[in-house]
Amino acid sequence: MNKTFYFLIIFIFCFSFLNASAKEIKKPYNVPILVYHSFGPAHSKKESAMQKHYRVTEKVFEQQMKYLSDNGYHPITFYSYINSLKNNTELPEKAVILTFDDGWKTQYTYAVPILEKYHFTGTFFIISKNTNGSYMNWDNLKDLTTKGFEIASHTETHPMLTKLDAVKLKKEVEGSKKTLEDKLGIKVTTLAYPNYMQNETVRSAVKSAGYLGARGGWAKFKNSADHIYELTSQEVVNNPNPFSEKRVPDLP
Ligand SMILES: [Zn+2]
Repeated sequence: MNKTFYFLIIFIFCFSFLNASAKEIKKPYNVPILVYHSFGPAHSKKESAMQKHYRVTEKVFEQQMKYLSDNGYHPITFYSYINSLKNNTELPEKAVILTFDDGWKTQYTYAVPILEKYHFTGTFFIISKNTNGSYMNWDNLKDLTTKGFEIASHTETHPMLTKLDAVKLKKEVEGSKKTLEDKLGIKVTTLAYPNYMQNETVRSAVKSAGYLGARGGWAKFKNSADHIYELTSQEVVNNPNPFSEKRVPDLP
C-alpha cells in the first residue's frame, strides 16, 4: 500500500513536470518586428545622413536574410502575429516579422527577389495616395498580394496622426484601408503609424476603422495582446546582422 502510494506521488510529480515543460514551449516568444525603408544604391549624391541610415544595400539585405535563414528564424506576416496574440495560438519557433514602410519602389526591385529566394514573407505598409514615381504602383502591389505578401496601411498621406483633428484622422485611417481593399481586392487588417506617432485617440480611431492591430515604435513594454494597437518594433540598418542595435545617427 505504501509503495503504491509513493509510486503514485512520483507519477504525479513526473506528469506535472512534463506538462509544465510542454507549456514552456508554448510560452509567448517575444517576436522581433523589424522595420525596413529603402534599398539599393543611393538615389543621389545629395543623400542626407538620415536617408543613408535607412537605406539597406542589396548585398547587405542578402546577408541579413541569410543570417535569418542560417539561424533558424521563420518570418511571418504582421497579421499572423496579431492573430496569434488575439487567439493565443502557437507561432513557429523563432518567428520574426519583416516589415517594409512607405511603399518604396526599391523594396520591389531589390528586396522582394531576395525574400522570394529565401521563401520569406513580409508585410508592406503602403501610403495609399503614393502609388507612382519612386513608390510601387498598383501593378507592383497586386503582384505582391499574389505572391502571398501582406499589404497593410500606412495611412493615405503619411501625416503625424497625433496632430490631426478627428475628421482628418478618421479619413486617413479609414480612407487608406478602403482604397487598398478596393484596388487590390484584399482585406486590410493592420496599420503602421507614420513616424511611429500615436496616442490613445489615434489607437481608438484605428480600432474603430476595423483594424485588428497596429505597429508602433520603441516602448518599454513587451509585446502582448494588451498592446495590440501599439506593438513595438525596431529599425534595421545597413549591417549584416538584422538585429544590430545601432541607433539613428545625429543629423547635421
Ligand atoms: Zn513611414
